[in-house]
Amino acid sequence: MADGRGHGGPFGRAYMTEEEKANQPKITFALVKRVMSYLKPYVLQLLLVMVCILISSILKLLPSIITGKIVDEGLIGRNLRALVYYILASLLASFMGNLIGVAESYLNNWIAQHITYDMRNQMFRHLQRMSQRFFTNNNQGDIITRMTSDIAGVETVIASTFTSIISNIMTLTVALVAMFQRNYLLAIIGIIIVPLFTIPTRRAGKTRWTLTRESQACNDEINGILNETMSVSGQLLVKLFGKEEYEYERYSKANDKMVKLNIREKLAGRWFFVVLHTFTSIGPMLIYLVGGILMINHGANLTVGDITVMVALLGQMYMPVNSLLNIQVDWMRSMALFSRIFEYFDMEVEVKDPENPTNPNLRHGNIVFDHVHFSYDESKEILKDINFTLKNGDCIAIVGPSGSGKSTIINLIPRLYDVGSGRIKWNGIDIRNMSLNHLREGIGVVSQENYLFNGTIRENLLYAKPDATEEDMIEACKKANIYDFIEKQEKGLDAMVGNRGLKLSGGEKQRIAIARVLLKDPALFIFDEATSALDSISESRIQEAIEPIIETRTSILIAHRLSTILEADEILVVDDGRIVERGQHSELVKAGGVYQRLYETQFSKALVGDNEE
Ligand code: ADP
Repeated sequence: MADGRGHGGPFGRAYMTEEEKANQPKITFALVKRVMSYLKPYVLQLLLVMVCILISSILKLLPSIITGKIVDEGLIGRNLRALVYYILASLLASFMGNLIGVAESYLNNWIAQHITYDMRNQMFRHLQRMSQRFFTNNNQGDIITRMTSDIAGVETVIASTFTSIISNIMTLTVALVAMFQRNYLLAIIGIIIVPLFTIPTRRAGKTRWTLTRESQACNDEINGILNETMSVSGQLLVKLFGKEEYEYERYSKANDKMVKLNIREKLAGRWFFVVLHTFTSIGPMLIYLVGGILMINHGANLTVGDITVMVALLGQMYMPVNSLLNIQVDWMRSMALFSRIFEYFDMEVEVKDPENPTNPNLRHGNIVFDHVHFSYDESKEILKDINFTLKNGDCIAIVGPSGSGKSTIINLIPRLYDVGSGRIKWNGIDIRNMSLNHLREGIGVVSQENYLFNGTIRENLLYAKPDATEEDMIEACKKANIYDFIEKQEKGLDAMVGNRGLKLSGGEKQRIAIARVLLKDPALFIFDEATSALDSISESRIQEAIEPIIETRTSILIAHRLSTILEADEILVVDDGRIVERGQHSELVKAGGVYQRLYETQFSKALVGDNEE
């Protein structure tokens, strides 16, 4: 088959799906200019690619043209020398053409890889600067798709679409010039029939594409079932509810559908080849017929070699024409890819690093919430006029019903979100004026959902302080009440924690998280007290670890246990986003408000349970 490249090949997607049509980007000059800006650093290499394409297109067509000489001068002229000479020339041209093709594809891929390398890094950087809101609102799968598939798509666009367009135009031009030089009439027949014969290709491609999409959907379904049932928690659910048979039925049904679709898809390919080959063989016959009539009846100035050349060139034209007919679709698809990626690049960084930061010493000075209002989205204000001062070295406990806004208050301090209005000051400086790194270095958070990486305990600890010594780690673990557990492990600090720390109990995870924060040694400790998931022994061990910290260090904690609350210098009672009461335990109990009700229902119980989900 002819040497055409690009998405327009027989199995390329020559059609835009409904979804693609609906999401067609508006192609503006600005968009094209922006795409070009990524190519700009590689202009020189791109020019070289074009030169390579030009030379290799000509060299690859030469054998077809030389065929004429082989027939006329070698075979019909019965000249052995000429025959051998032309055969060698033809082989050499083909060899050189392919050799330059290698150089071209090396350059091509080099450029594509470098551009996508730049893009990937830029994207990763950008995404890391996005606020927590972005990660809460966006599907993790979408983010990963954009990082991987979309950027990989761009790579294909640059490495193949772009060069295939140029190479196809070159091939066609050279072929047409060669044909017109021999005979106008035959050249015109060629121009007319080639595009006609690409029509069945397009039809068959469409059927096949529809089937491919169906089988992709089916594949997604199968993956979905596997994902749900083959995960640790999924299997647990299946086993505990005795759903093995049900899941098997579900899986085998999807599997069956897949088999049928696959058979149809493979067969569609076969039919397609029958049609394609029939049609492509009509072309040469037409040239033989018309050429023959011209030569025999009209005594046209045509040799057998000329007609052979025409037929050979015709064969080289199908793929480039087909591919060029799809340029518009390729172009749209490429632009859609770029604009999807740019959409992410254009998302504004919500929590910005200031340009000229002021970085005060965070180990001194108070933390002040000054008329802070906040909402996750416009519909509902979550925090309303929050005012309090956390003095250096003190501990504040925040209590309140579930959903009242306690975690939200805490999230504002490391600027996971920025305040809506009002300000948070630390040592007199608005935290928005400090560099994010400086601010976050000053804060250590132990939350209910402590994320441990799938690695060893040591690796998880070193994440907080890469240069920590063995002694530092042991000391932190002792303080966090986890060292006895580590000592019992065969591998000690090098024991694996499992995927997300799943090999550890909730309490052990929590204490490792405390050790990690102790290693970090921040100016401010934040604890979101874990409750419901822990038994009383685990709880008291955690309590033992936390107590010395809150006694001596600046700390703020969401408290559920009376013992912790009693340790705090001040208690803030939050209800529906407002601080409704504040003070010491004894005063608050007497006041007979929200706190007193919480005290009666929650804090005073020996085994503390949280009302949260
Ligand atoms: P608490 O810690 O007191 O249980 P939160 O601060 O977690 O309460 O939540 C306060 C309110 O904010 C709740 O109504 C909750 O539904 C809402 N909320 C929490 N996180 C988000 C979020 N990422 N997007 C939108 N709303 C949220």
